Amino acid sequence: MLSRSQIPTLGLILPAYNEEEVLTTTLTTLRQIKQQLIEGHLIQADSFIMIVDDGSKDQTWPIIQKEEQDNGDIIGVKLSKNFGHQPALLAGMTEASKISDMMITLDADLQDNPGIITEMVEKYFEGNEIVYAVRSSRQTDTWFKRNSALAFYKLAGWLGVKMVPNHADFRLMSKTAVQALLAMPERNVFLRAMVPLVGYNSAKVYYERGERQAGTSKYPLKKMLSFAIDGITSFSIQPIRLLLHLGILVLGVAGIEIFYTLFEKVVGNPTAGWSSLMISIWLLGGLNLIALGVVGTYIGKIFTEVKHRPLFQIEKEISYSNNNDQLSQ
Ligand code: UDP
Ligand code: MG
Repeated sequence: MLSRSQIPTLGLILPAYNEEEVLTTTLTTLRQIKQQLIEGHLIQADSFIMIVDDGSKDQTWPIIQKEEQDNGDIIGVKLSKNFGHQPALLAGMTEASKISDMMITLDADLQDNPGIITEMVEKYFEGNEIVYAVRSSRQTDTWFKRNSALAFYKLAGWLGVKMVPNHADFRLMSKTAVQALLAMPERNVFLRAMVPLVGYNSAKVYYERGERQAGTSKYPLKKMLSFAIDGITSFSIQPIRLLLHLGILVLGVAGIEIFYTLFEKVVGNPTAGWSSLMISIWLLGGLNLIALGVVGTYIGKIFTEVKHRPLFQIEKEISYSNNNDQLSQ
């Protein structure tokens, strides 16, 4: 069933922000999986694990340095500050695309079950440039996270943002697909909506999302919410259209009101009109504010896009010697 003749080099990319508690366990697990794949002749022996330290303030970077020195099989990329999960992933993909044929991005806390990596690689061999890992259940998430995610995917779908439901950033991408993704110049990175825009053959692999192995979530509610709003406003202009429809509707209501007032005048029974006036003012005031807010969001995005600021800044990079040359290019 293999439709690719060459054995690829695989890069496993992990963004890590204050992950000192879990990193060593994660590396042990991933090393075993990498070894199995190498022994099964599915990936090249120079396949690697790349950890992107997203400006951690704990012992994450010293752990990466030590692991690299002791085992010589990982690549550490240190960002100059905390840029966020998505830019950290992009930094890793940019670096890994220089030396690998395909890559898999996954969280550093082992919530993305590494047990399905082999299946993902098999899908690559079947000719897929992208393999999405999809959560088959969210039993380990809290009630709130489960339902807010459901609402988010529903709303995003309704607004025309194309995403694979229940897929986050656990995915395999070939070098071809990654290069197409990296060619997108945007600053507001929301990978799960950007990747499907790349096209190519893709496949899905299902998995049960596990518990975080150690440490705490680096995605508090505030971050999650702004991530969701960013995700929708970066990929859909539907909110602006809806606003227009709403505006027309409100205009219609105002028209009816005018007719009604005129009618009362003709009949000769005018009411004091205080309440209807107040309601109108508040209603229109509210709608105006919403309108300004939505338009402002888009203008804000134009503002960040035109600045073309670099999305991430690599402070330093360590790797076993044979990859050094290509990485420094
Ligand atoms: N992460 C990151 N930068 C951030 C926040 C998170 O690189 O600013 C990483 C984090 O170390 C982890 C992954 O993104 O590897 C997912 O974060 P987390 O597990 O905390 O999110 P949750 O699973 O709770 O949604
Ligand atoms: Mg997690």
